Amino acid sequence: MALTQRIKEANDIVDVVGSYINLRPAGPTFKGLCPFHDDQRPSFDVDPRRQRYKCWACGAYGDVIKFVQEFEHIEFLEARELLARRAGITLENHKKNPQEPSRASMLDVMRWAQAQFQESLLETPQAETARKYLGERRLTGESVRKFGLGYAPDAWDWLVGQAMNAGMPADLLETLGLFGKKNEGRGYYDRFRDRVIFPIRDLRGQTVGFGGRILPTSPQLQRDNPPPKYYNSAETPLFSKSDQLYGIDVAREAATKAGCLAIVEGYTDVMMAHQHGVCHVVATMGTALNARHIKKIRNLVQRVVLVFDADAGGETGIDRALEVFVSQDLDLRVATLPEGLDPCDLLSAQGPAPFREALEQAVDVFEYKLQRVWARETSQGLEGQRRASDQMLTILAATPQERSVKLELMINRIAHRLNLKEETLWKRLRELRERRTDAGRADTDRWERGQPLTPAPSPQGGEGRLAEERSAPAAPYERELLELLLADASLVARASAEVTLDEVEHPGLRTILDGLYRLHAEGLTADLDHLHGRLNNERLLDWALRSHDQGMQQPDRQSAYAKVLGRFREKRDARRKQELKNQVLATSDHDEAIALLARLKQNN
Ligand SMILES: [Zn+2]
Repeated sequence: MALTQRIKEANDIVDVVGSYINLRPAGPTFKGLCPFHDDQRPSFDVDPRRQRYKCWACGAYGDVIKFVQEFEHIEFLEARELLARRAGITLENHKKNPQEPSRASMLDVMRWAQAQFQESLLETPQAETARKYLGERRLTGESVRKFGLGYAPDAWDWLVGQAMNAGMPADLLETLGLFGKKNEGRGYYDRFRDRVIFPIRDLRGQTVGFGGRILPTSPQLQRDNPPPKYYNSAETPLFSKSDQLYGIDVAREAATKAGCLAIVEGYTDVMMAHQHGVCHVVATMGTALNARHIKKIRNLVQRVVLVFDADAGGETGIDRALEVFVSQDLDLRVATLPEGLDPCDLLSAQGPAPFREALEQAVDVFEYKLQRVWARETSQGLEGQRRASDQMLTILAATPQERSVKLELMINRIAHRLNLKEETLWKRLRELRERRTDAGRADTDRWERGQPLTPAPSPQGGEGRLAEERSAPAAPYERELLELLLADASLVARASAEVTLDEVEHPGLRTILDGLYRLHAEGLTADLDHLHGRLNNERLLDWALRSHDQGMQQPDRQSAYAKVLGRFREKRDARRKQELKNQVLATSDHDEAIALLARLKQNN
């Protein structure tokens, strides 16, 4: 049977339409309010025998696929795929037109899930503890609604059940990080259990991910191996924790008005700030502020204030911020709060005044670091002076630019503060840069040998760690190929015709190459930006980013590519020869051996 036919037969039109709008039986058909015009009386008819719908008022008419197309505003193939998924039909043998689930349908699923969690929190008796918990945190009902908070009950199959009843595609819920797949047999389980749910929304207010805070009273915490306190959606096609800002949708307007965005560390910090009328406040998702964040907020604000507790969120946070500051055109400042209080505690204990004051007194991140370093080393004489300048220069050495106005200003400031000559500082900076490049290479090698890299800051959620496929180190020419392709998307077209995937032996690099080839095949620009939406692997993305930068330093990428291609050809020839040799060794037939040797000779 034709696939489309099969999909239609597996999706009864009454079930499907009934999952979108309310239908009631009326004789041999079902009636409801038409979703395609402003219907006052039920004009919409669904006929189960003919598997058709028809609106008597606006004339809408069609089959089950047409309905989904019209309702979801998607193309035929997408609608067909949605229904195939719903019915558990795999489309794997029909990859002529590989359809990713559309962004629209993913957002629909997220919106649906958010509504389930929210209703659970606001309406159900089982959420009593969660409501009490939020009350104790002094969050008002208004805040809870503004941020769309929800509750996931303490069960393995609560959302699974809701999804089944609503006819939501379970595998899409899995893709979006809400379901896990059971190990034995078929079926799914809820990933979020006994947690307060914080929907993570993009700039436009669309839910793209969820953060979950386990209830302090949860029986799960009594287990030998208790789950993490915070748990975020894993990386999904909609959500990457390294570029989301919690609260950005509701902070956007106030931030634009203030020309400034304040970044705190926790969900409840954000909520409490808004509750106290300080609305230009967001949080990162447990990662340090990075260039991808900046890209998102650059057109909203010119100034960003990082809010740290008195213990300053560790030096790492500051150093990362400083690296961002040096390389980006942005006014980046640091605010510290009084003694050991986080924003949430400070705000609920003392109201908005001291918090606002801290934001106003924020100092620029470079000055902040310089003051701290200097305060620590100033009593240590010459040695202290050297250490202080090294600490500052090490951070500057991370910047891509050799020399810029900003860099010159900063060198000038260090020189003044530490009473050193600028020349000395420039010279030292060059040394540190060189050392850093070597260290970067060593890091890449470590990664390729499967050893841990320089530790990254640990994410709030536990699931960020993905097991990468690893094996022997990548051959230098494989690495170089990827560097060139990542730096110049136009080379991907050539490579996809000239180098096959299995010619790249390193599994990590092959995954990246595969991603690039797919993008190219789909007519998209095969670059890092697009790759980012596809690769759910932070490590690989980091590596890709580094390789991209490496590739950008290659002045003549065309000829470098030709050279690399030559290496691949050599490899190919060597392999073919080896195969022939093996055949010669394996054959017992004298004549055949002679023939093979002749071919081998030709190849030489
Ligand atoms: Zn109608």
